[in-house]
Amino acid sequence: MTHIDDRINEWLLDAHAMEEQAESLLSGQAHRIESYPELERRMNQHLEETRSQRKRLEACIERRGASRSATKDVIGKFTAIMQNMSGLFAGDEVVKGVLASYAFEHMEIASYRILIAACETAGDHETKSVLEEICREEEQMAQWLSDAMPEITRSHLTRSEADLSEAKR
Ligand code: MG
Ligand code: FE
Repeated sequence: MTHIDDRINEWLLDAHAMEEQAESLLSGQAHRIESYPELERRMNQHLEETRSQRKRLEACIERRGASRSATKDVIGKFTAIMQNMSGLFAGDEVVKGVLASYAFEHMEIASYRILIAACETAGDHETKSVLEEICREEEQMAQWLSDAMPEITRSHLTRSEADLSEAKR
């Protein structure tokens, strides 16, 4: 086993931990966005994709014979910060959730691009093509969030304005 293969195994385990965090981030948000049905639908779709990504990664880890004992906690801490952040700003959870999700997707994209380059270097084309497939799903999710962001923001602001004038009456 070469140094490069060790690194790839380690990074695959990091990606696996990241997808577990993505699962809890997405399922934690689902109940807070009922008033935004398109966002809710897309988040639930990505939750399903994320579960499937985790399984595809598990198959890569198994095929490469990489142990799961070395999983690190770095990504988990990052997500905890993101989740706490949305709690700090009462009332705009939807907007903060979109912000956190968009940032998270880009961390995923970077992780997979790095892994893809590493697999290319090592000549592991089977793992590389799985990672490219997963990376495309992350890119599509990031693009969807980017496109939806202005409308979600407008909708949130209009909604809270209406709630305020309702409360004053
Ligand atoms: Mg993912
Ligand atoms: Fe994702």
